[in-house]
Amino acid sequence: MSHAPLNPWLSYPLVAATRRQPSVGSLGGHPRGVTAQDWPKCEVCSNPMCHMAQFDAGPALDLGPFVRMSLFICHATGGRCEDWDPWKGANKVLLHSAIDDNLYDGPPTVRVYKRQPVRVIHPTDEQALMRQVQEKRVTMVDALNEIRHDKLGGGAVWLHGDATPRNSSGRPMRLVAQLTTNLVRYDITPNGMAYVFFDDESRSGDARLLWQGS
Ligand SMILES: [Zn+2]
Repeated sequence: MSHAPLNPWLSYPLVAATRRQPSVGSLGGHPRGVTAQDWPKCEVCSNPMCHMAQFDAGPALDLGPFVRMSLFICHATGGRCEDWDPWKGANKVLLHSAIDDNLYDGPPTVRVYKRQPVRVIHPTDEQALMRQVQEKRVTMVDALNEIRHDKLGGGAVWLHGDATPRNSSGRPMRLVAQLTTNLVRYDITPNGMAYVFFDDESRSGDARLLWQGS
């Protein structure tokens, strides 16, 4: 499934969804369509990772030819695997080519987070927001606070400086999701922030997860 490229300046805030509301995915819980065989293992300690979130591509999320992404992170060694690093293999973004809503038995993992379906609300035009900063109608701190929430798309609000992953050509990847510890209290530092980046140039598909502590 492909669709028109999204406006990269629009970000879609993620909020909790009730069972009756259409969701774009969910935080925590058990992932759909991930068999035990496909379940990612940590490349540092070899343990099965914990599932963080799953999002479907659509008007708020451009995943190129992919239709869903599932986020995993290693919690087996209490941070010794460097689960914040996008390149160490202690976290994983699985890209799915087809929607499979079946629940399969997964391996036992250290942590299963409480499942929280999420939906997007009216998008924020981050370009307009930054224009207000340039015109000195809004301070940068206030502007960043306006987009420091769980969201799909837009720009990353970094806690410790820009750490955008670069692809094999050296070009920065595109932010597709930013997750706080507000909706689900992930075992990353409280008030930390996770970021998911997508490589638009990779033919086989590449997306990277990293997080920063508060
Ligand atoms: Zn590990």
